[in-house]
Parts: sequence; structure tokens; C-alpha cells
Amino acid sequence: MRMIDLIASLFANFCILVTFVFFSGRLAKKYAFLNGTKVTPLAGVGAGILFGLFGMILMSYSFLAGTGTYVNLLHLTIVITASYLGWLPTLVCAFILAICRVIFYDSSYNSVATAIALLLYGILCSWVSVLPWTRLRKMMVGNLLWMGLFLALLLQTPMESLSILYFYPIQLLISISAVLIVYYIAEHIQRSNEVFTQLEVRATTDYLTGLNNLQQFHRHLETEMAQAERHQESLSLLAIDIDHFKVINDTYGHPAGDEVLRQLTRRLCQHSRSHDIVSRNGGEEFTVLLPDCPLLQAKSAAERLREAVENELFLLPSDNRITITVSIGLACYPETVPVADGRLLVQSADQALYHAKNTGRNRVSINSPASDSSNI
Ligand code: GH3
Ligand code: MG
Ligand code: MG
Repeated sequence: MRMIDLIASLFANFCILVTFVFFSGRLAKKYAFLNGTKVTPLAGVGAGILFGLFGMILMSYSFLAGTGTYVNLLHLTIVITASYLGWLPTLVCAFILAICRVIFYDSSYNSVATAIALLLYGILCSWVSVLPWTRLRKMMVGNLLWMGLFLALLLQTPMESLSILYFYPIQLLISISAVLIVYYIAEHIQRSNEVFTQLEVRATTDYLTGLNNLQQFHRHLETEMAQAERHQESLSLLAIDIDHFKVINDTYGHPAGDEVLRQLTRRLCQHSRSHDIVSRNGGEEFTVLLPDCPLLQAKSAAERLREAVENELFLLPSDNRITITVSIGLACYPETVPVADGRLLVQSADQALYHAKNTGRNRVSINSPASDSSNI
């Protein structure tokens, strides 16, 4: 009967563990720290606290094997933290579990000894977490370390050791099975997070320059236009096109053209404000969206950009240095486009760019509300 109770408790622990691993995987995706990116110290402490509290839930589903001796899978929260999140969250998790063990349970000799064992175990697992091992190996070793420590604890209770030891092999078997299944699920979640993040990046980013792609530009345009209308602010748009870019490709080759596009990207980002939105809208055409920027200010920003490009020496893979120029079309809501409509803003900037191209290139043009382009 008591063996059935033990199995029931450990099964409940296992189910809670799997549920928690699933939800923490979703959280990790949302806050982007389980997809290959480094865990920041703040996120690490947060995750450690979360896993510690989760261990507390497991503790409350323990099987009481003897006075003050609880059998559960809570050590696996420390093992998972060490294998997937690193040493800091592991220490935080172990610390919380140790404190809670003494505060919320009896402060008998067994509780204090278990709390000390948990702290010691947290330190060991933190060390394991930095070893160049596979995650499965870390989980397996972490689990066996605890089972070893737990056995040593059991042997400290001579009166009951025999009856308690009766449960030990089944606990060992269930914890090893749990490690394997939890590992399988956590790996699956980790891989889906990574693929999901890659897809998100690909859907919004230009592969060559890392800038926003056309779709993402339109999303930003819609948001910024709505914001400008709501707060009665200006919204300016620069449409930028490299002059005679085809000649660079024809003379130095396509990879040289790609390098020019990358270097121009760096220039555009350097000369924009942090909240300006730089995108590659196609080929050698870029845009800079300038939130809360009236026409006059946008004119000088465009002119600064044009001059910076003109004065830059672009280094090609062949070690040749070349200069390029850009033509820029400027439109501004509400000064040149009185209606809060993103499509009209793009249309107006394109018309101004067309005008800049037709009047000699390497210049900034704006479109007047009456639609007759004028050079500045
Ligand atoms: P204009 O001054 O009138 O803009 O002349 P242009 O030569 O810059 O314009 P055109 O539209 O005739 O040529 C654009 C060229 O950009 C043609 C195309 O091969 C090149 N291009 C488009 N995308 C890429 C790219 O990703 N990499 C490279 N290297 N070239 C590209
Ligand atoms: Mg061009
Ligand atoms: Mg073009």
C-alpha cells in the first residue's frame, strides 16, 4: 500500500514537472533566454526564483517515508536549471528551496540537514552547469549526485533506515525515467523556440543587411502613422536610392555591390537617431522613417546623410576604394502629405526621389502638397 502511495506521489511530481517545463519553455521564448541567447543576470535570478518556487509545489506532493523524510523529485528543478540556464539561476533556485524547506516544513534535524544538502547540491550543480558536457550528461550526473546525497541522508536516520531504504530503488528508477522524459520534452521545446525565433527574424529582416525588410517597414509605417495622428506629431520619410549602382555591379562584381550595400547600411544607421527606423525596401533602395520629425529637421537630416555618403570611401573586397552618391526623396506628414495615410507618404517620397534622379542625382528633393516636386 505504501509503495503505491510512493509511486502516486512521484507520478504527481513527474506530471507537475512536465507541465512546468512546458510553461517555462513558453516563458523563455517570450523573454528570449532559452533560444541560444545568453541569460542576463536579472533574467537568471528571475528564472532561479521561479524554478525555486516551482520546486516548492513539488515538495508539497511529497511522500512521507519516515519522520521528516520526504521523497519527491524536487531536485530535478535544480538539475533542469543547471542544464539549461547556468550557474546563477541554479544557486538561486537551490537557495530558495533550502530556505523554504526549513520555513514551511518542520525545522527538525532532518529538515535542516536536507536544507544544507540542497545548498551543497546547488553548488555542485552550478559547477556541473559550466562543464563542457551535453545537457543530457549534465542532467544524468546531476540526478545521480542528488540520489547519492539523499542516500547518505537516509543512512543518517538509523532507526528507520531499513524501511526507508526499501523505497530508495523505486525512487531512483522513477527519477532516472523522469530525467530522460523531461530531457526529451525540454529539448523539443528548446528546438521549437529556436526555429520559431529564426522564422520570426527571417520574416521581418533583410538577409543581406540585417535591416527591416519591406513587410516590416510597412508594419512600422502603419504604427508610426497612427501614433503621429493620435499625438498630432510629424512623421517624415526618406526614400534613398544609390545612384548608378548597376555600374558598381558591372565593374566590380555582385559581391562588391553587396559589400557596398552593407557599408551603406552602417552609415545610414550611424547617422540616424536611435528611434528612427531604417529599412531596406528592395535592391539598392532604403528608407528612413523619422518619427516626430518636422519637415525642416528632416531636410537637414537628409542632407547630412547625403553628404556623409558622398564623403565616405567604400572599401571593396578587392581592396579598391570607391565613392558613391545617393538620391533622396523626402515626404512629411502633415506638412507635405496632409492626410494620415502611410501609402500616400510612400507615394510622395517616391515621387520626390524620381524628381531627384531626373534633376541630376546626388540630391534631396521634396514633393510639395500640390504634387510638383521641388529640389532643395
Ligand atoms: P539609378 O541612379 O537610376 O538608380 O541607377 P541604378 O543603376 O542604381 O538603378 P537600376 O535600377 O538600373 O539598377 C539597380 C541595380 O541594383 C540592378 C541590380 O542588379 C542591383 N541590385 C539589386 N539588388 C542587389 C543586391 O542585393 N546586391 C547587388 N550587388 N546588387 C543588387
Ligand atoms: Mg539606383
Ligand atoms: Mg533603384
